[in-house]
Order: sequence, then C-alpha cells, then structure tokens
Amino acid sequence: MRDLIEALCSADCAGRAAGSSGGRLARAIVSDAFVKAGLKPEEQLVPGCKGANVLASVAGDGPRWVLVGAHYDHLGTHGSKVFHGADDNAAAVAVLVELGRALAAKPPKGRSVLLAAFDGEEPPHYMSEAMGSAQFCATPTVPLQELDLMVSMDLVGHAVGPAVLPPAVRNTLFALGAERSEGTSAVVDSVSVPGLVVRRADAEVIPPLSDHWPFWRASVPFMLLTCGRWEHYHAVTDTPDRLDYAKIAATAKWLEAFVRAACARPEVKVRFTNARDDVSSLRSIIAVLSELQAVSELAAVALAQAEELLEGCDERGVSPVPKRVAELVGQIESALA
Ligand SMILES: [Zn+2]
Repeated sequence: MRDLIEALCSADCAGRAAGSSGGRLARAIVSDAFVKAGLKPEEQLVPGCKGANVLASVAGDGPRWVLVGAHYDHLGTHGSKVFHGADDNAAAVAVLVELGRALAAKPPKGRSVLLAAFDGEEPPHYMSEAMGSAQFCATPTVPLQELDLMVSMDLVGHAVGPAVLPPAVRNTLFALGAERSEGTSAVVDSVSVPGLVVRRADAEVIPPLSDHWPFWRASVPFMLLTCGRWEHYHAVTDTPDRLDYAKIAATAKWLEAFVRAACARPEVKVRFTNARDDVSSLRSIIAVLSELQAVSELAAVALAQAEELLEGCDERGVSPVPKRVAELVGQIESALA
C-alpha cells in the first residue's frame, strides 16, 4: 500500500487535480493497481471535472451490491506549491485496492462489491454535480436501488492526535452514517481487528463533505469512514512520511471483514432511514475524552458537556440540541489537530 501511496504522491502526479495531466497519470496508476490486484477496471467519464472515475467489481452470489469508494484526486498545484494529498486521499485509494485484492482472491458471499476510485471530489467540485461520485449517481453502472450500502473513505491514513496520546485515541477510525440504514450499526459493531478502534457517530456531526453526499441525497444506505481533519489537512505537508502505516494496514483488514459481513447480511434489501443517533456520537466522544483527561484539562470540561448532552437524549437516541453535539465534535477535532 505504501508503494501505491508514494506513486500517487509523486512529483509527476503533481497533486492529482481533476482534469490535469497529473490527474490523468494518477488515474493510470490506479487502473494499473486494480489490474495487478486481479481486477478488470473500467473508466467512467466525468465531464463536469474533465476527469474519470475508475470502477472495478467483484461478483458475489446474490443480486444486490455493496459499493466502496474513495476519491483519488487532490488539490493539484498552486503557484510553486504542490499539494500531495497522502492522507487526502491516496491512503484510502491504497486501502480500496487492497480490499479489491482480497476480494478477487476470495469473492464475497452474497452481495457483489463495486469498487470506485472517484475523481473530482476536491474544490472547486465538491458538493456539486461535477464530482465523480455525483456523476456516478446520475449515470450509475449499477442501479442505485440495488445498492445496500455505499462506504466512502476519506482521510483514513493518519493517527488521531499527537504522539503523546494513547493508542485508544490514535487508532480511532470514525464510522459516520450507519444509523441511516436499518441494521448497519450492528454490522459495524460486529467487526473488530487489532490496532484499530472503530467508533460510530451520526452522519450530521460534520458537514457532508465527501463522496457519500450524492448517495445520501439519493437515499442509498451509506457510511463515511474517516480519521477526521488533522494539522496537515489541505496543506503541502500532507505527505506519505507522515502517515501511520500500521493503522492503514489495520484499516484494510477491518474493511475487508466489514465488507464481507455487509455482503452476507441476510436481509433481502437494506432499508435507508432518516434515523439520527446522537447517543453513538456522544458515547464515542466520551470514550475519546476519557482517554484525553490525563493530558488535557480542557478534556474534563468537554467530557462534562458530553455527559450532560447524553443524559438529554430521548429513548430513540436523539438529542434535542444536535447542533451542540456537532459543535463539541468540531471543538475536539480542532483540539486534536
Ligand atoms: Zn480533501
């Protein structure tokens, strides 16, 4: 995975801006990596950003699908500055290819898996129809009604917080949005691997700034896997040497087990819901803050706030003040960065 991350972050890819020659080179590198993983990738043109998605599938033995996606584009260059985007989002593309390799070697039981390396996620395209993921939803290669889950990965390459923090914090991977489909939270909770702590949170604790957004809009069950924004987010310092490779390896293992479990779910169809789950967000916040108390006095203050918000949640797990939950998440994300 490190080789692929370094290739995508090479000087020749020049930050992989959608529609640029560096972006086209990155696309060729992703296609080639899929081929070497035993898959048959196809390109889907994305006219809005003058780029293309790279799609590959692995057949299961059922009629429905799970889609796993990660954008491969990044910010390109600005003047003499090159934005390499190792964490955003070369690491997730490497995890995606690794998932493809594992599934090609041993196909999933039940649902088939569509792997999507999306173009055009970054500004100026994000949250517009020019996004590769929005293009996919507009012209899907698999009918959207046949998707039982869309998993988007964004910023999954780094440890959370500075090196002084314990593994329980550093090894955190947040899973957002499982509450928006029936039974998906239980599948997330059923999978664990050493070296990674997956913590669930409601999709609305952050703005919908990744490839899950067009799927969410189309009422497709979705999840976002992310380690959150960090100090190198959208900075020239987001380089391969700063990533946590043990965590990336653990993430690939977790994702493979999770996707196999999602494929094998017994339901005929997984239903999208508008349910909220502030309780899971707050429990995740409380678990992280409990670890931080020893190193930060502010953590104790935030912990008291989180516990108060948790007590205020109703029996459906919904807070009467979800904005305060999101604000608390934002404060912790900034503090950890
Ligand atoms: Zn980004």
